[in-house]
Amino acid sequence: MFCGGAPVTNEHVYPRWLAEGFPEKMRTDRAMMSSYSDQSSLRRHFGRMLTAQVKAVCEPCNSGWMSALEGRVKPYLLSMIKGEIVELPPEAQEVLATWTLKTALMCQVMLPQDQPNLPAELFTDLYQDRQPAQEMKVFCGYMMPPRYLNRWSPMENRSVPRTIRQRRAGGSVFEAWATVVTIRIGYAVVQLVSAGPKGLRYELGFGNYSPYVEPVWPIRETFSWPPRALKTLQEFNVFTDPLRQVGQPLPE
Ligand SMILES: [Zn+2]
Repeated sequence: MFCGGAPVTNEHVYPRWLAEGFPEKMRTDRAMMSSYSDQSSLRRHFGRMLTAQVKAVCEPCNSGWMSALEGRVKPYLLSMIKGEIVELPPEAQEVLATWTLKTALMCQVMLPQDQPNLPAELFTDLYQDRQPAQEMKVFCGYMMPPRYLNRWSPMENRSVPRTIRQRRAGGSVFEAWATVVTIRIGYAVVQLVSAGPKGLRYELGFGNYSPYVEPVWPIRETFSWPPRALKTLQEFNVFTDPLRQVGQPLPE
Protein backbone atom coordinates (compact mmCIF):
# COMPACT_ATOMS: atom_id res chain seq x y z
CA MET A 1 0.00 0.00 0.00
CA PHE A 2 2.66 2.48 1.03
CA CYS A 3 5.98 0.89 0.02
CA GLY A 4 4.37 -1.69 -2.26
CA GLY A 5 5.88 -4.43 -0.07
CA ALA A 6 4.38 -7.84 0.59
CA PRO A 7 3.09 -9.77 2.39
CA VAL A 8 0.63 -7.43 4.00
CA THR A 9 -0.50 -7.85 7.60
CA ASN A 10 -3.43 -6.61 9.63
CA GLU A 11 -3.06 -3.00 10.74
CA HIS A 12 -5.41 -0.99 12.94
CA VAL A 13 -7.11 1.86 11.11
CA TYR A 14 -7.12 3.80 14.36
CA PRO A 15 -4.55 3.10 17.07
CA ARG A 16 -6.02 1.59 20.23
CA TRP A 17 -4.40 4.18 22.48
CA LEU A 18 -6.99 6.73 21.31
CA ALA A 19 -9.41 5.13 23.77
CA GLU A 20 -7.24 6.35 26.67
CA GLY A 21 -8.57 9.83 25.96
CA PHE A 22 -12.27 9.00 25.90
CA PRO A 23 -14.45 9.86 28.84
CA GLU A 24 -16.03 6.80 30.40
CA LYS A 25 -19.48 7.52 29.00
CA MET A 26 -18.35 7.52 25.40
CA ARG A 27 -18.58 3.99 24.21
CA THR A 28 -16.46 3.28 21.19
CA ASP A 29 -19.05 1.11 19.48
CA ARG A 30 -20.89 4.12 18.07
CA ALA A 31 -18.05 5.34 15.91
CA MET A 32 -19.04 6.27 12.40
CA MET A 33 -17.23 6.39 9.10
CA SER A 34 -18.73 8.11 6.06
CA SER A 35 -17.33 8.21 2.56
CA TYR A 36 -19.05 10.28 -0.09
CA SER A 37 -18.41 9.94 -3.80
CA ASP A 38 -18.30 12.64 -6.39
CA GLN A 39 -21.74 11.47 -7.52
CA SER A 40 -23.04 12.13 -4.00
CA SER A 41 -23.44 8.45 -3.23
CA LEU A 42 -22.61 7.62 0.33
CA ARG A 43 -21.04 4.62 2.03
CA ARG A 44 -21.42 4.46 5.76
CA HIS A 45 -20.06 2.23 8.46
CA PHE A 46 -21.17 2.21 12.07
CA GLY A 47 -19.26 0.14 14.53
CA ARG A 48 -16.28 -0.46 16.69
CA MET A 49 -13.73 1.72 15.00
CA LEU A 50 -10.95 1.13 17.51
CA THR A 51 -10.78 -2.56 16.74
CA ALA A 52 -11.18 -2.15 12.97
CA GLN A 53 -8.27 -3.52 10.99
CA VAL A 54 -7.39 -3.58 7.33
CA LYS A 55 -5.01 -6.01 5.66
CA ALA A 56 -3.09 -3.59 3.51
CA VAL A 57 0.22 -2.69 5.12
CA CYS A 58 3.45 -4.69 5.20
CA GLU A 59 5.08 -5.60 8.51
CA PRO A 60 8.13 -3.29 8.15
CA CYS A 61 5.84 -0.30 7.50
CA ASN A 62 3.43 -1.30 10.26
CA SER A 63 6.04 -1.76 12.98
CA GLY A 64 8.43 0.82 11.56
CA TRP A 65 7.54 4.33 10.49
CA MET A 66 3.79 4.01 11.12
CA SER A 67 4.35 2.87 14.69
CA ALA A 68 6.93 5.62 15.24
CA LEU A 69 4.42 8.19 13.95
CA GLU A 70 1.84 6.98 16.48
CA GLY A 71 4.39 7.37 19.26
CA ARG A 72 5.27 10.91 18.22
CA VAL A 73 1.70 12.17 17.84
CA LYS A 74 0.33 10.59 21.02
CA PRO A 75 1.46 13.24 23.57
CA TYR A 76 -0.27 16.00 21.61
CA LEU A 77 -3.28 14.20 20.20
CA LEU A 78 -4.19 12.50 23.45
CA SER A 79 -4.46 15.88 25.19
CA MET A 80 -6.60 17.16 22.34
CA ILE A 81 -8.87 14.09 22.52
CA LYS A 82 -9.40 14.88 26.20
CA GLY A 83 -10.12 18.51 25.39
CA GLU A 84 -7.10 19.81 27.31
CA ILE A 85 -5.32 23.02 26.31
CA VAL A 86 -2.15 22.12 24.43
CA GLU A 87 0.66 24.13 22.87
CA LEU A 88 1.44 23.06 19.33
CA PRO A 89 4.94 24.06 18.24
CA PRO A 90 5.96 23.57 14.58
CA GLU A 91 7.27 20.02 15.17
CA ALA A 92 3.93 19.06 16.75
CA GLN A 93 2.05 20.58 13.80
CA GLU A 94 4.14 18.53 11.39
CA VAL A 95 3.55 15.25 13.20
CA LEU A 96 -0.17 15.99 13.62
CA ALA A 97 -0.50 16.80 9.92
CA THR A 98 1.39 13.65 8.92
CA TRP A 99 -0.74 11.51 11.23
CA THR A 100 -3.91 13.06 9.79
CA LEU A 101 -2.81 12.16 6.26
CA LYS A 102 -1.83 8.60 7.28
CA THR A 103 -5.11 8.01 9.10
CA ALA A 104 -7.18 9.51 6.25
CA LEU A 105 -5.50 7.05 3.88
CA MET A 106 -6.12 4.10 6.22
CA CYS A 107 -9.78 5.09 6.56
CA GLN A 108 -10.05 5.10 2.79
CA VAL A 109 -8.65 1.58 2.63
CA MET A 110 -11.33 0.47 5.06
CA LEU A 111 -14.22 2.17 3.26
CA PRO A 112 -13.24 2.56 -0.40
CA GLN A 113 -15.21 4.14 -3.21
CA ASP A 114 -15.08 2.76 -6.76
CA GLN A 115 -13.29 5.94 -7.74
CA PRO A 116 -10.89 6.61 -4.83
CA ASN A 117 -11.35 9.99 -3.14
CA LEU A 118 -7.60 10.16 -2.51
CA PRO A 119 -5.43 8.84 -5.37
CA ALA A 120 -3.05 5.91 -4.87
CA GLU A 121 0.02 8.08 -5.41
CA LEU A 122 -0.62 9.75 -2.04
CA PHE A 123 0.26 6.45 -0.32
CA THR A 124 3.64 6.18 -2.01
CA ASP A 125 4.31 9.90 -1.61
CA LEU A 126 3.74 9.64 2.14
CA TYR A 127 5.97 6.58 2.35
CA GLN A 128 8.77 8.44 0.58
CA ASP A 129 8.41 11.90 2.14
CA ARG A 130 7.04 10.99 5.61
CA GLN A 131 5.13 14.26 5.61
CA PRO A 132 2.25 15.81 3.63
CA ALA A 133 2.94 17.40 0.25
CA GLN A 134 3.71 21.11 0.42
CA GLU A 135 0.47 22.05 -1.35
CA MET A 136 -1.76 20.07 1.05
CA LYS A 137 -3.64 21.76 3.87
CA VAL A 138 -4.26 20.30 7.30
CA PHE A 139 -6.43 22.00 9.92
CA CYS A 140 -7.52 21.24 13.45
CA GLY A 141 -10.61 22.15 15.40
CA TYR A 142 -12.42 21.42 18.64
CA MET A 143 -15.83 19.93 19.25
CA MET A 144 -17.81 18.46 22.09
CA PRO A 145 -18.68 14.95 20.82
CA PRO A 146 -22.23 15.13 19.43
CA ARG A 147 -25.08 12.70 19.90
CA TYR A 148 -26.48 10.63 17.08
CA LEU A 149 -29.78 8.90 17.83
CA ASN A 150 -29.41 9.98 21.44
CA ARG A 151 -26.04 8.33 22.00
CA TRP A 152 -22.60 9.89 22.23
CA SER A 153 -20.48 9.56 19.14
CA PRO A 154 -16.84 9.45 20.25
CA MET A 155 -15.30 9.15 16.80
CA GLU A 156 -16.17 9.96 13.24
CA ASN A 157 -14.51 10.08 9.86
CA ARG A 158 -15.89 11.85 6.81
CA SER A 159 -14.42 11.89 3.32
CA VAL A 160 -15.96 14.39 0.90
CA PRO A 161 -14.69 14.72 -2.69
CA ARG A 162 -15.34 17.55 -5.14
CA THR A 163 -14.47 17.98 -8.77
CA ILE A 164 -14.02 21.55 -9.90
CA ARG A 165 -14.04 22.60 -13.53
CA GLN A 166 -12.82 26.03 -14.42
CA ARG A 167 -12.22 27.82 -17.69
CA ARG A 168 -8.90 29.55 -18.07
CA ALA A 169 -8.63 33.03 -19.55
CA GLY A 170 -7.47 31.37 -22.76
CA GLY A 171 -10.65 29.27 -22.92
CA SER A 172 -9.24 25.84 -22.08
CA VAL A 173 -11.05 23.87 -19.39
CA PHE A 174 -9.15 23.20 -16.23
CA GLU A 175 -10.25 20.32 -14.03
CA ALA A 176 -9.15 19.84 -10.47
CA TRP A 177 -10.18 17.35 -7.80
CA ALA A 178 -10.26 18.09 -4.12
CA THR A 179 -11.04 15.83 -1.18
CA VAL A 180 -11.65 16.87 2.40
CA VAL A 181 -11.21 14.21 5.08
CA THR A 182 -12.29 15.15 8.59
CA ILE A 183 -11.49 12.97 11.59
CA ARG A 184 -13.15 13.66 14.93
CA ILE A 185 -11.89 11.82 18.03
CA GLY A 186 -13.16 12.85 21.44
CA TYR A 187 -12.82 16.65 21.48
CA ALA A 188 -10.18 16.70 18.74
CA VAL A 189 -10.97 17.43 15.11
CA VAL A 190 -8.35 17.18 12.38
CA GLN A 191 -8.90 17.76 8.70
CA LEU A 192 -6.95 17.06 5.52
CA VAL A 193 -7.61 19.00 2.32
CA SER A 194 -5.89 17.44 -0.65
CA ALA A 195 -6.25 18.56 -4.26
CA GLY A 196 -4.76 17.83 -7.63
CA PRO A 197 -3.40 17.56 -10.23
CA LYS A 198 -0.14 17.12 -8.37
CA GLY A 199 1.60 20.34 -7.49
CA LEU A 200 -1.57 22.42 -7.73
CA ARG A 201 -1.28 25.42 -5.41
CA TYR A 202 -4.42 26.88 -3.89
CA GLU A 203 -5.75 28.87 -1.00
CA LEU A 204 -8.77 27.99 1.07
CA GLY A 205 -10.88 30.46 2.97
CA PHE A 206 -13.19 29.43 5.80
CA GLY A 207 -15.04 32.75 5.89
CA ASN A 208 -17.22 32.99 8.99
CA TYR A 209 -15.78 29.70 10.22
CA SER A 210 -12.20 30.86 10.56
CA PRO A 211 -12.38 31.23 14.40
CA TYR A 212 -13.13 27.48 14.52
CA VAL A 213 -10.16 26.48 12.38
CA GLU A 214 -6.44 26.38 13.14
CA PRO A 215 -4.04 25.51 10.30
CA VAL A 216 -1.27 23.02 11.16
CA TRP A 217 0.04 22.41 7.65
CA PRO A 218 1.92 24.11 6.17
CA ILE A 219 3.47 24.60 9.61
CA ARG A 220 3.58 28.01 11.25
CA GLU A 221 4.51 29.55 14.60
CA THR A 222 3.52 27.91 17.90
CA PHE A 223 -0.13 28.32 18.83
CA SER A 224 -2.41 27.11 21.57
CA TRP A 225 -5.23 24.63 20.85
CA PRO A 226 -8.28 24.68 21.04
CA PRO A 227 -9.85 27.32 18.80
CA ARG A 228 -13.50 28.27 19.26
CA ALA A 229 -15.68 25.19 19.77
CA LEU A 230 -17.90 23.77 17.07
CA LYS A 231 -21.12 23.37 19.03
CA THR A 232 -23.74 21.86 16.79
CA LEU A 233 -23.91 19.19 14.13
CA GLN A 234 -24.87 21.89 11.67
CA GLU A 235 -21.62 23.72 12.40
CA PHE A 236 -19.71 20.47 12.06
CA ASN A 237 -21.41 19.77 8.71
CA VAL A 238 -20.21 23.12 7.38
CA PHE A 239 -16.73 22.52 8.78
CA THR A 240 -16.42 19.12 7.11
CA ASP A 241 -17.31 20.48 3.67
CA PRO A 242 -15.41 23.76 3.26
CA LEU A 243 -15.56 23.48 -0.54
CA ARG A 244 -19.35 23.33 -0.68
CA GLN A 245 -19.96 27.06 -0.66
CA VAL A 246 -16.69 28.10 -2.18
CA GLY A 247 -17.26 26.01 -5.30
CA GLN A 248 -14.11 27.29 -6.92
CA PRO A 249 -11.50 27.15 -4.16
CA LEU A 250 -8.53 26.41 -6.34
CA PRO A 251 -7.09 29.38 -8.20
CA GLU A 252 -3.57 28.61 -9.38
ZN1 LIG B 1 5.46 -1.37 3.51
